[in-house]
Amino acid sequence: MTAAVESAKSAPAAARLPAGVVTGEDYRTLVAACKAGGYALPAVNVTGTNSLNATLEAAATAKADVVIQLSNGGARFFAGEGLKDEANARALGAVSAARHVHLLAQHYGVCVVLHTDHANRKLVPWVERMLDFSEEEFKHTKKPLFSSHMLDLSEEPIEENLQTCARILKRMSPMGMSLEIELGVTGGEEDGIGAEHDGADNAKLYTQPEDVAKAFKLLSMIGHFSVAASFGNVHGVYAPGNVKLRPEILKKSQDLVQAQFKTPVKPLNLVFHGGSGSEKEKISEAVSYGVFKMNIDTDTQFAFAQGVGKFVLENPVAFQHQIDPGNGKPTKKSYDPRKWLRLGEKAMVERLQEAFVDLGSKGKSLAG
Ligand SMILES: [Zn+2]
Repeated sequence: MTAAVESAKSAPAAARLPAGVVTGEDYRTLVAACKAGGYALPAVNVTGTNSLNATLEAAATAKADVVIQLSNGGARFFAGEGLKDEANARALGAVSAARHVHLLAQHYGVCVVLHTDHANRKLVPWVERMLDFSEEEFKHTKKPLFSSHMLDLSEEPIEENLQTCARILKRMSPMGMSLEIELGVTGGEEDGIGAEHDGADNAKLYTQPEDVAKAFKLLSMIGHFSVAASFGNVHGVYAPGNVKLRPEILKKSQDLVQAQFKTPVKPLNLVFHGGSGSEKEKISEAVSYGVFKMNIDTDTQFAFAQGVGKFVLENPVAFQHQIDPGNGKPTKKSYDPRKWLRLGEKAMVERLQEAFVDLGSKGKSLAG
């Protein structure tokens, strides 16, 4: 019997939560339910209302809860590339997306975690600016705007990484917000670490369990946090064979922390970055070790592009002429953005159904 099956059996009947954005106690309940039930939620990067609504639709279709997240670039795009002040646009775009989700999520009947993705040292002020908005929101509603944020200071020495994480978590914790941190470097295009140049034994690509224990010692005293651990995962999709996923590294971290701090099983909340294109067995294995969230971006981007691209290739005339020169008929029905953007959304909804199944979260929504 796998650890996941065992903990699923001993888990109490799943709690129910109100549909909509989960923060604070409800967020912690959701994370605990994922770990106890041996399943994880896809964390989908969105860049506008099309990808955002498609994610809500996908979750509703799968009767599953979901994480909606924005990268700083995604947030900037959400505000509009035409908005000149980039730093401002990054913050306002994230807030705009968050308000959109707060308004709509409950109507889709699922629980949604609202999160922001990688923030390196230069982007710490971005996170702090979003915290200004959450603190303002909290004053009036007793709820922050976001469920959690991520700080990725994994390029820095671990002490500096953890000190900054501790400082930010101290500010988030009174609002019940959670912080995702990164230890070890996830390879891939966005990190400048090409999997093809680094052998599978490159220590940088694998988080050291001792570092995870250091993080636990410091941060568990302050508030709720999760760890994006590197176990050979890369951002983006590469030709097979370039990277070796070693989920057993996650188990080693869980076991070390459990032994050192005398905690119950699976004390760490783990996050899987670079999930696109991963082997299904490795995904299940990682989830069984306490991964509750798997980022998916590349595969959903490709699905959206395929949905739109297929239609454009099949209807080239409509994208060049308002009146078809061949038959004299108007082509408006085809070039109306709702026609082709909807096909992008549908393709993304379909791709996400696969993700919910792979992660074991289909049909497991706590909403209701
Ligand atoms: Zn990542």
